[in-house]
Amino acid sequence: MNKKVGVVGAGLSGLACAVELKKRGFEVDVYDQSSEVGGRVQTETYEGFLLDHGFQVYLPSYEMGKYFFNYKDLELKSFSAGAKVFYDGAFQSMSDPLREPAGFISTLSNQLGSLKDKILILKLKLRAASFNKVETKAVSTLEYLKDFGFSKKFISTFFKPFFSGIFLEKELATSSSFFLYLFDKFAKSEASVPKNGMKALSEQLASQLGNNRVFLNSKVTEVSQNTIKINEGSQEKYDHVVLAATPDITNKLLGTEFKTFFNATQTYYFKTESKDFSDKKLFLNSNDEKKVNHIACMSAVSKAYAPNGWELFSVTTVGPEDHSLDAVKSDLEKLFGKKEINTWQHLKTYKIHKALPGNPLYSKTALKKDGVFICGDFTTSPSIQGALSSGYQVAKEMSKLS
Ligand SMILES: Cc1cc2nc3c(=O)[nH]c(=O)nc-3n(C[C@H](O)[C@H](O)[C@H](O)COP(=O)(O)OP(=O)(O)OC[C@H]3O[C@@H](n4cnc5c(N)ncnc54)[C@H](O)[C@@H]3O)c2cc1C
Repeated sequence: MNKKVGVVGAGLSGLACAVELKKRGFEVDVYDQSSEVGGRVQTETYEGFLLDHGFQVYLPSYEMGKYFFNYKDLELKSFSAGAKVFYDGAFQSMSDPLREPAGFISTLSNQLGSLKDKILILKLKLRAASFNKVETKAVSTLEYLKDFGFSKKFISTFFKPFFSGIFLEKELATSSSFFLYLFDKFAKSEASVPKNGMKALSEQLASQLGNNRVFLNSKVTEVSQNTIKINEGSQEKYDHVVLAATPDITNKLLGTEFKTFFNATQTYYFKTESKDFSDKKLFLNSNDEKKVNHIACMSAVSKAYAPNGWELFSVTTVGPEDHSLDAVKSDLEKLFGKKEINTWQHLKTYKIHKALPGNPLYSKTALKKDGVFICGDFTTSPSIQGALSSGYQVAKEMSKLS
């Protein structure tokens, strides 16, 4: 008879683990306290707009994504490579010279950094491509960029807004090895979203499980090596148990001592009928006193994000600060002008205090406590790739035991 596994958590790590276990011949049940699969990857349909819970992008070059997802069915829609950076009163183009040669001239002449900085970008691209996952000495991304020779100005006009928006922290304190990994992935594929929103990622994974093996609205209150207690009531028995939650929940259920600091973000959605700009590039704000870090026209990337006749803008701030809508709008006016911003109508705001684990372990092997397997992005890296690979690692380790 097939061995039975209970997985707690239907975020990307738990779902990936369950899918991989099923491929390896296990019978799997997945439990989640929420009414939806996907954990931190959610998309809400609101007034006909698709609102991702926080601005998120998928990188098609993620190794584990290539393994788990069917890209054709996701109908990935990509942003244009590079970005437009607001500096000194105007947006300046920063293109990827290898993928967008036409934009290279404007990149060379922009005021974001020196010629040396732009040449160093090419060197960094090569360095990231040859980087072999674990650097001998991982330092902070900021330190790495300084040591690499980039000017202070270029770090603050380009790297800070771009990577703060990814790490969801303003100081670029995140590990340089994760930075190099991501830089390489950005160089190898365009940031994308599934046509119908980020949630399509988790839905596609859940659909691979079949047989209604995902139990929603099921809060797990106790776990052991062989049991899962649900909603303080029934206790289910399994050959193995996996906890695929966040570090705080893992500590609560298993008595572990993972660090529980999270990077936070807020995403404000606006709709407009204005057609003055709908560009597929990411708009970055390099102003010193800014609240808004970046803006994206989601409907330009995938038309399905907005009903006909409308555009959808996603506006992101980094950090736990609670900015008022007026403060955000006044920041946007500095970037796009009062006339344009007057046409933007606020739709909804997502405040995400537990967005990314601030102290991930970058572990390359599956973790375990008291016989219970542990996965989640906090065990690997704070990303979709990290979540998928943590689930995969656990499934692989477990199949060695059976
Ligand atoms: C705003 C934001 C932006 C991001 N941007 C990007 C990006 O651009 N690119 C990228 O690659 N990654 C990005 N990420 C990171 C990525 O989304 C996460 O790394 C990944 O989704 C984490 O998956 P997970 O399974 O580890 O955790 P989670 O998604 O948190 O899943 C944990 C699950 O466990 C469930 N659970 C917890 N406790 C219990 C319990 N007691 N009983 C039952 N169920 C329980 C929860 O309900 C949840 O569904 C972003 C994340 C956020 C929030």
